[in-house]
Amino acid sequence: MIRVERDRVAYYQFLGLKDFPGLLHFVSGREGGVSVGGQAALNLGFMDEDRVDSVLTNRMLLAGAIGCEVDAFTFGEQKHTTHVEVVSVEQRGAGAREKVTRLPATDALITREPGICLTVLAADCVPVLLYDPREQVIAAVHAGWRGTVGRIAAGTVERMRDEFGCDPRNVLVGIGPSIGPCCFEVGEEVVGAAREGLGDLQGLVVNGERDGKYLLNLWEANRRQLEEIGVRTSNIETAAVCTVCHHDRFFSYRGDRGNTGRFGAGIMLKTEIGC
Ligand SMILES: [Zn+2]
Repeated sequence: MIRVERDRVAYYQFLGLKDFPGLLHFVSGREGGVSVGGQAALNLGFMDEDRVDSVLTNRMLLAGAIGCEVDAFTFGEQKHTTHVEVVSVEQRGAGAREKVTRLPATDALITREPGICLTVLAADCVPVLLYDPREQVIAAVHAGWRGTVGRIAAGTVERMRDEFGCDPRNVLVGIGPSIGPCCFEVGEEVVGAAREGLGDLQGLVVNGERDGKYLLNLWEANRRQLEEIGVRTSNIETAAVCTVCHHDRFFSYRGDRGNTGRFGAGIMLKTEIGC
């Protein structure tokens, strides 16, 4: 990823996605917003700990910096499901100005409609952005450990294929900042669920420092399931930034001991007249 700064808002972009003229995408960080305390400064998530008007201001600042409207942002109600929603024009702006309009129980969003900025929020979970430049289809995925072992990223590519005829070999993927294999300590129950969902855990799980604790590599788990579905290794870019280690730059639930905000990862097909 590279860091971009515009109008005092900083955001990041994947090298493999940033040069398509018809595509807009971002991964936001902490810098540039108006929220205070644990949510300082660019918190994008409506939450009890932050003011609604601060979050809205942050979303407007980000929209201005990346070059879209706040009503382009479209959110799912992230519930660690494996539900993939194909987003229609009528659903544009779901959850953009208030929580209640988010698409219910949805952790992955796909569209072929321009002007819809599919956005997922995270604070340790893995945000994944996908783009098929041939079929002009985009997707954004929220993959925590449950979504990852539920193979939501692979499920999203399958849905892109079934719904829009995308060939997985053409799909470009950015795996964003999240809790890394350095910090994601889990117990037996998570390892068991991972084995059930992902099969062979060779290279995905190593022993932790404490007895009965393991370190799980969510980046590799997502990369591997995407490769298994036919995405080319060379088309998958992993930010490899651990949010816990870098909680000065990205919101991190574990790194901030729960008092944190949410950063976003979004992707949009530009409309012909710009945004
Ligand atoms: Zn770490």
